[in-house]
Amino acid sequence: MTRLPNGKTAYSVHLNKDRQEKPKAQNLPPTGFDEKTRIWFNGKMVRWHDATIHVMSHVIHYGSSVFEGFRCYETLHGPAIFRLKDHVDRLFDSAKIYRIDMPFTKAEIIQACIDVVRLNKLKACYLRPVAFRGYHSLGVDPRLCPTQVAVAALMWGKYLGPDALKNGVAVRVASWNRMRPNTFPSMAKAASNYMPSQLVKLEAKMDNYVEGIMLDANGYVSEGSGENIFLVYRGKIYTPPFSASILPGITRDCVIEMAKDFGYEIVEAQVPREMLYVADEVFFTGSAAEITPIRSIDRITIGNGKCGAITERLQGKFFAIIEGREKDGYGWLTPVQ
Ligand code: PMP
Repeated sequence: MTRLPNGKTAYSVHLNKDRQEKPKAQNLPPTGFDEKTRIWFNGKMVRWHDATIHVMSHVIHYGSSVFEGFRCYETLHGPAIFRLKDHVDRLFDSAKIYRIDMPFTKAEIIQACIDVVRLNKLKACYLRPVAFRGYHSLGVDPRLCPTQVAVAALMWGKYLGPDALKNGVAVRVASWNRMRPNTFPSMAKAASNYMPSQLVKLEAKMDNYVEGIMLDANGYVSEGSGENIFLVYRGKIYTPPFSASILPGITRDCVIEMAKDFGYEIVEAQVPREMLYVADEVFFTGSAAEITPIRSIDRITIGNGKCGAITERLQGKFFAIIEGREKDGYGWLTPVQ
């Protein structure tokens, strides 16, 4: 433990030989980290405090990592991982975009995710696979830095607050735009994309909003700092297209599939900012946020300020499937025996 000049404390738990020292609670909210769990790290299951890297690793200096985040749900039939293959596919797509050679196959990463849940005897959790450029040299050229891969699990509650799914969240339009298409590749889920997302989140929180909505470089609606966005307007469902610099969300894809099956018309088109204010319903989607209604934007009430009927219908089906109450007709769940 080191006292920093600003009065804060830096914890170097991994350097502690007897592994007894833990960050003290200090009245901070729970993190969801369970330090008793094992982490899959470069092909082996290691103790939480042994899953460490060197400060001179490439990723620390240049943000050179790609990652995933998804939930394992406690269904009526045991734990099941949500859209596991699709998330691992996206991890490999992100690595491909950034020319990061993956030292493991997709099948090995899929197995690692299952093993992390099984070995740690978890019922429900959030899984975080991450692939990053490791330790070799400090130049920007990353080619000699070996790729390292980890899969960890944590306990994550409702991402946007305990009553967000029911009552909706109050959000703002961010003053920071989503990156231009030819600056960062938004289809890659890369750590570097989350620097602007942090600005958006911080700005929102400091102003007592739950989240921020970014516009794209052309001023059209893009997405939240960690969520895709949908609007219901005059009976149709709108969502920004990939060309609005969004991450191709997997929950977004679920909503599109379910909405089509319900018979709604889905329009993937540029969404002007003011359409947010006059929409009947607006909601976020994401592995962490699931399907979260938005009750106000920039303090303008959306619809009647409650979870709208179409949002509720989509939520209802989504939760029925992931809780195992309804047949998983889409094949979204991978059971962990
Ligand atoms: N956009 C961003 C920027 C995100 O971080 C996320 C969360 N991964 C999403 C959208 C939603 O994607 P998914 O539904 O795959 O979690």
